[in-house]
Amino acid sequence: MPELPEIETIRQGLEERIVGLTIKEVVFNTPKMLLPDPESLISGIKGAKVIQVGRRAKMPLLFLDNGKILVFHLKLNGQLLVRKVSKTKDRFVRVSFVFDNGEELRFAEMRKFGWAKLLKNEAELEEVTARLGPEPFSKEFNFGYFQEKLSRSRRAIKIVLMDQKEFAGIGNIYATEALFYAGIDPRRPANSLSEDESDRLYQKVLWVLKQGLKYQGTTDRDLAYLQVSGEPGRFQEHLAVYGREGKPCLRCGEPIRKIKISGRGTYFCSQCQK
Ligand SMILES: [Zn+2]
Repeated sequence: MPELPEIETIRQGLEERIVGLTIKEVVFNTPKMLLPDPESLISGIKGAKVIQVGRRAKMPLLFLDNGKILVFHLKLNGQLLVRKVSKTKDRFVRVSFVFDNGEELRFAEMRKFGWAKLLKNEAELEEVTARLGPEPFSKEFNFGYFQEKLSRSRRAIKIVLMDQKEFAGIGNIYATEALFYAGIDPRRPANSLSEDESDRLYQKVLWVLKQGLKYQGTTDRDLAYLQVSGEPGRFQEHLAVYGREGKPCLRCGEPIRKIKISGRGTYFCSQCQK
């Protein structure tokens, strides 16, 4: 699933490409992906101009000049691609938002679990995002908050890091990498970390998210995540443990192990992570 660095890269791409454009038309073939329903979504955005592109957790947000907000959830495989209308179709496109400049925003999603939802105003956006924890690059995500959340949970530290109610935007890849760099076994109960360990992990979470952003996100072999230009990200070339089962640890040479924690593939070095 795309995480903060991937969705933020998409947000930046959308901001460059579609701010100032007016939505002329919406073409779709999967009605259930348009919420609350295709008719009200289309009548609410047709003729509106995109004035800003935002993001909350893993959701890109298009702010329109009529006060409405279009929210996307890409789920596991969703893509947002900006293309000339005349350009060859991409795979699995479910909805296209056609602009007044001859380009369109294509929402592709193989499994049809993703959605685009039109919100009437900021108050509705607050309802949608009310249960999400703070953004990692916000003031609220400080060490005190981080440590308090860890100290209150006996769940595996990796699961707590990925809990969107505690911290928004961190998923499997970046949690796995941060735990490696912090030298912490992903299975440990969150409340067993010492203050030093929590501090190290806090720093490494922020650091790996920044690295992910710097390289425009992580594109797996399945090519699920792409930038709005259709280009892959490059952070997969810099992963230390994620996806490296059996390969030597970059620090000690020991083979990287893969286990499952709450059903999610987790990679770690049993020598370097205690
Ligand atoms: Zn190692």
